[in-house]
Amino acid sequence: MVIAHRLPQRRHLVTDVPGPRSRDLATRRQSAVAAGVAPSAPIQVVDADGGVIVDADGNSLIDLGSGIAVTSVGASNRTVADAVAAQAHRFTHTCFLVTGYEGYVAVCEELNRRTPGDHDKRSVLFTSGAEAVENAVKIARLATGRPAVVAFDHAYHGRTNLTMALTAKSVPYKHDFGPFAPEVYRMPMSYPFRDELGADGVAAARRAITLIDSQISADKVAAVIVEPIQGEGGFVVPAPGFLGTLAEWCHTRGVVFVADEVQSGFCRTGDWFACEHEGVVPDLITTAKGIADGLPLSAVTGRADLLDAVHPGGLGGTYGGNPVACAAALATIEEMDTNDLCARARHIGTIVTDTLTETATALAADGHAVIGEVRGRGGMIAVELVRPGTTEPDPALARSVVAQALSRGVVSLTCGTYGNVVRLLPPLVIDDGLLREGLGVITDVLTETAASS
Ligand SMILES: *Cc1c(COP(=O)(O)O)cnc(C)c1O
Repeated sequence: MVIAHRLPQRRHLVTDVPGPRSRDLATRRQSAVAAGVAPSAPIQVVDADGGVIVDADGNSLIDLGSGIAVTSVGASNRTVADAVAAQAHRFTHTCFLVTGYEGYVAVCEELNRRTPGDHDKRSVLFTSGAEAVENAVKIARLATGRPAVVAFDHAYHGRTNLTMALTAKSVPYKHDFGPFAPEVYRMPMSYPFRDELGADGVAAARRAITLIDSQISADKVAAVIVEPIQGEGGFVVPAPGFLGTLAEWCHTRGVVFVADEVQSGFCRTGDWFACEHEGVVPDLITTAKGIADGLPLSAVTGRADLLDAVHPGGLGGTYGGNPVACAAALATIEEMDTNDLCARARHIGTIVTDTLTETATALAADGHAVIGEVRGRGGMIAVELVRPGTTEPDPALARSVVAQALSRGVVSLTCGTYGNVVRLLPPLVIDDGLLREGLGVITDVLTETAASS
């Protein structure tokens, strides 16, 4: 790895976190910004690079969140920043529906080439992950002429009306925001830690298929949409065979199999896309987060016959595939190649998994078996926290770990249907030393909190 960092890669605190300037901004925020957008780490960021975030009080914090799996190549990557500036100096917008430009086409070519399967593919670009998911559903419905869409327990697909319907968790994503879009059906997920079918992914898929057949009937199903590793739902990794069995069933029934790789895509799990790990080839794949280092860009990529079934004018949007975002995506992809960030993600995965597994063993030996499971892949690893020796979720412990880690200079996130999962999504360009230091803080906090509860 040859990425040179601009900022010193260190954890260094000079005030409490959040410090006085961050607290001042929080006050202004309260009287200016809608309360519905609630920050989990209430600091005022003034600079960020590689594995660090610098706040307005001069604190340098370790970033184990990447803005939710977005800034994989670093939040101020030089190659990306130069590409963005150069494009912004030429033109910031034309609207691809009005006049075209090369960047859009080049991003589609990259997506078609890099996503699983060597069949003929097309892509279409949008702005957010939710918009990509909505459009995947539109495309699947039009191409099949069928109404129903199947999503899974613990799924997260976004916050727009249709994607809220696809998302499983009520509070905070859906609560009081209904009525929701019709013809969305929810099926049980393969969740090895909590599922009586455990590691039998094929049986878990058959369970869902039996329910689909009896409750909806395959000939009414336009699409089955699934995250190959669930993100907000708790980094749930379905048991081997689950995705493949579902995809195969979809294939034989003319159902469009959609992999939502908005969080798991773009090297995050150690492959370009998480479904590659099981050799699954989706009909459509949705991408966003890691695609353009934080510039708003998302995509639907997949079978040419599906995407080209839509009539001219049926897809699009004013900003979809914005030229500055496309320039950022091409530079991001180049950085991922140059620095082999897929390999880097696998290396990170080994460090994080080993460290957290050691902590789990040590805690259990001391009678504090609060880590129910360490799971995930590559740069997407989490611990599910439980009441000692049970599977009963402990969301208070997860909140406390994240809050205390922040006060010691490490940014991490919770997730999970029960809010009891601490997830780590470091930038893939983070140095090993800094990663280990950040992990050390997380495991210290976990150990201290578990011992005192
Ligand atoms: C974040 C996310 C979305 C929604 O993306 P937005 O850009 O926030 O609209 C959809 N699907 C998955 C799997 C996600 O992680």
